[in-house]
This record gives sequence, structure tokens and C-alpha cells, in this order.
Amino acid sequence: MSVSITPIICGLLQVNAYIVQAKGRDDCVVIDPGDEYPKLKAALGARRVGAVLLTHGHFDHIMAAGEMARDFNAPVYVGAEDAEMLNDITKSDYTGMLGLAEADWPVIDATPFPESLSVCGMDFTVLATPGHSRGSVCLYLKDEGVMFSGDTLFRAGYGRLDLYGGKMGAMLKSLKSLFTLPEAVQVYPGHGDATTIGEERARYRI
Ligand SMILES: [Zn+2]
Repeated sequence: MSVSITPIICGLLQVNAYIVQAKGRDDCVVIDPGDEYPKLKAALGARRVGAVLLTHGHFDHIMAAGEMARDFNAPVYVGAEDAEMLNDITKSDYTGMLGLAEADWPVIDATPFPESLSVCGMDFTVLATPGHSRGSVCLYLKDEGVMFSGDTLFRAGYGRLDLYGGKMGAMLKSLKSLFTLPEAVQVYPGHGDATTIGEERARYRI
């Protein structure tokens, strides 16, 4: 593989933030910097963050995004329909989940994802996968056979449908489309262990 993937588990909900770096580069992208910025920064070492990529707008995936973006002067990308969630503690489910009335993270200024994004020497195909939220995306590195699935697809499960913008019909359609990818594709989810498309597809009758 010509990219290195470092998962950093952070925050109350133990989200997987991923540092993804192409071999031979000194910059990297960070997917879902959920919280605990000092821990993420320590894991980055001397690497420069070229972009912050958010799989969706829930608080547990985004809380360190604003600080990281400011620190590295890096753009933040999110699915267009989830942009409204980033600075809204109700829509990002911070209030609902934690019962807190004030945001605990700096304002996040994000750009909607294009359909494909070339950044830090990597070509991400951005797959729109609504269901867990309206703007959920999966980030696919086709040449590497690697996909970051956020809270759409987990090992032995999929994301909750009862939160803001969640919809069962959309989730089924999204899962179906993900299961058309090659079986060997490695799936790195927003929570829990990595898996493969083949392993997950075998669990469903869709
Ligand atoms: Zn989520």
C-alpha cells in the first residue's frame, strides 16, 4: 500500500480519527478529528495537515476540526447537506447525546466535498451515502482499495437512523451501493475495528 493509515481513538464516544499519508510525503489528511486535539497533534508529529475531511456532521467526529484547521491553515470538507450541523449543537446531536447546552468546540468553516478530491498526493472518490445523516459520505481511495466509511458502515453493523437526518430507506440504498465495490476493499469505520466489503456484504440480504 502506498498510503499509511493511523487510527487515533478519541473522545467520549471513542471515534476513530484517521491520519492518512501518502508514502514519501510530509503532509497528510486527517479524517474525523473528533476530540482531544492535543492527542491528535502529538500523533501527527512533524506532519503537516493538508486537509481535514469529515465523513458527517455529528459532534463526536468534528470537535477538533476547527482548531486543527486553524492551526494548519487547512481546509475542512464535509458533505454539503451536513454543513448545517457543524456549528449547531442540536443538529450535531451534542445536546441530545450529552445533555449539554453549550458547544465545546470552535466554529468550523467547511467547504462542501467535490465528487473527487486530490489532496496530499491522494485521490479520494467521495461517495454520497445518506442514511445515518443526510450528508454522510464514504471516502474511497480506489487505487489503494481502502475506504473510510464514517458511521455508514461498521464491522457487523451500520450507523443509527434515529438522529437528525437519519433515514432507513436512504441507508439501505447506500449500503447496497457500497456492496458493489470490490470485496477486498478494506473498510475503516468511524467506530470499532476495520473490516472488508466482502465480509460485511455477506451479513446482508440486500
Ligand atoms: Zn454519527
